[in-house]
Amino acid sequence: MKIHEYQAKQVLAKFGVPVPAGRVASTPEQVKAIADELGHGIVVVKAQVHMGGRGKAGGVKLAKSSVEAEEAGKDILGKVLKSKQNPDGLTVRKVLVEQGIDIAKEYYIGMILDRDSKRIVVMVSSEGGMDIEEVAENSPEKIAKAVIHPAIGLADYQIRHLCYAGGLDRTLVKEVGKFLRALYAAFVASDASLAEINPLVVTKSGTLIAADAKMNIDDNALFRQPELAGWKESEEENPIEDEAAKRSLTYVHLDGDIGIIGNGAGLVMTSLDVVAREGGKPANFLDIGGGAKAEVVRNALEVVLMEPKVKGVVINIFGGITRCDEVAKGVIEAAKTLSIKVPVVVRLEGTSVDEGKRLLSESGLNLTPAATMHEAARKVVELSYK
Ligand code: GDP
Ligand code: MN
Repeated sequence: MKIHEYQAKQVLAKFGVPVPAGRVASTPEQVKAIADELGHGIVVVKAQVHMGGRGKAGGVKLAKSSVEAEEAGKDILGKVLKSKQNPDGLTVRKVLVEQGIDIAKEYYIGMILDRDSKRIVVMVSSEGGMDIEEVAENSPEKIAKAVIHPAIGLADYQIRHLCYAGGLDRTLVKEVGKFLRALYAAFVASDASLAEINPLVVTKSGTLIAADAKMNIDDNALFRQPELAGWKESEEENPIEDEAAKRSLTYVHLDGDIGIIGNGAGLVMTSLDVVAREGGKPANFLDIGGGAKAEVVRNALEVVLMEPKVKGVVINIFGGITRCDEVAKGVIEAAKTLSIKVPVVVRLEGTSVDEGKRLLSESGLNLTPAATMHEAARKVVELSYK
């Protein structure tokens, strides 16, 4: 689960990580009030959306007065920020209003739960403030790494290694060590899977402060992180996923354009693989579960077709407790109420398959039957991309 910068900074502050004074606002008036509270000097107004590169996208503004801050708030709130990873963009509903920092240098600090070593890995680099993925790609030697032993924690020698190999100013080793230890404590206590401070700022007076903070929390640990779990938001998730959840469907939105409906998680995942092998790009995962009635199938087809990118749909049902005739009825009901403009390939097998097939063929609807899952995948790809 992603949390916002302002939330991450609240967590980090509790563990002694230095962060700028500031608060979150959802109206320009609130922005002004917070800027007034912060007193004189520069304030920073920052969009709180789950994406990186907000600075480049126009989501971070410096203001010299509370009136300017209010203007920045007016400008950023309601704006749709886009990035490479978020081409559709995210609407800004909240901004963080912070005391401005006098930046002398920008460093990078990251911690991740590394699946290979099964440990927390720390990364430090002098190349802060910029796109760290680009640094990793073009000059990986500029990122120093250390794997933390869970029983020992972050050792002094590791801190020195991270600072020296990461190209940080040697006079800062002690301060960076304190910073890393506080960040590590926050990371472990919050069951984080990722924490990134980019940039970690060295101020003109030589102190360290987290100018930005990104944190993800391990979903599997949310049961024991009630406070963090309470921060879960549905508004920034996919609206179709929200709609599916309302209809009690297990739907996951994907990037492709072929809608997939099946019964049972394993069969749906296999359907995704088979469609992908045929050259198709699945638009979703949708499991109608066992014993689904016509109503559920109708809902499923409606939800899948809400994604405008969908060029075709494959329905792959292996009837055990799910009855193929119920599935067929659901497809027919959906087709009656929706005007389906894309090819729909249906593969039915198992309980009441003959009745199901009969209903579909007698419906007069433009549906393409398939005898096997592979045939269904082949057909849906062929019909959708032609
Ligand atoms: P991101 O673009 O989403 O990663 O957002 P950041 O919080 O990292 O902000 C982008 C850039 O804005 C930073 O790299 C800084 O250069 C700049 N910035 C952020 N806060 C301050 C601040 O308090 N003072 C100054 N001068 N610049 C800031
Ligand atoms: Mn940043």
